[in-house]
Amino acid sequence: MSATHELGHAAACLHYRIRFKDVEVRRIKTPFGIAGGRIGCWVKDSVIGLHVRERYWRNVIVMLFAGDAAVQALWFHTGGATQDEKDARKIAIRRLNIPQTQVDCFLEPLRQKALTLFRKPEVVNMIDSLYSVLVEKGKLSHREIRMAYRNAKLDSIVKETEF
Ligand SMILES: [Zn+2]
Repeated sequence: MSATHELGHAAACLHYRIRFKDVEVRRIKTPFGIAGGRIGCWVKDSVIGLHVRERYWRNVIVMLFAGDAAVQALWFHTGGATQDEKDARKIAIRRLNIPQTQVDCFLEPLRQKALTLFRKPEVVNMIDSLYSVLVEKGKLSHREIRMAYRNAKLDSIVKETEF
């Protein structure tokens, strides 16, 4: 499940063009499988222009929710990642100046948006193709993930035109 979670973040990074270095799952065995993981993301506040900047941080929030959304969409199980939730709230308040009392309302549509990512065949196929590789290797580079994403995208285009 950690592998799905981290690949969910990675898929959203590729979708929104957020830079990341690699994805890692830690091999701590629990009764539920491998626990823990991380994604090496470069989330920077260097985007010029107020409108672009706002869209960028919204995308980052969707990307944060994408980890849990991937698990929800592909395992029919809601885990709820507390760290991601905290980070999303922090961004809403500090970067987008959303008042504390409105944060929940503000975040809800972004959470839904993260879920819609995992209805895209290329995203689902990418995670399917990388899942066991990530579990086995423990780590995947940006390049490996990007290539799998591209291949999955090409596959889904081919399938659509086969009819
Ligand atoms: Zn996460």
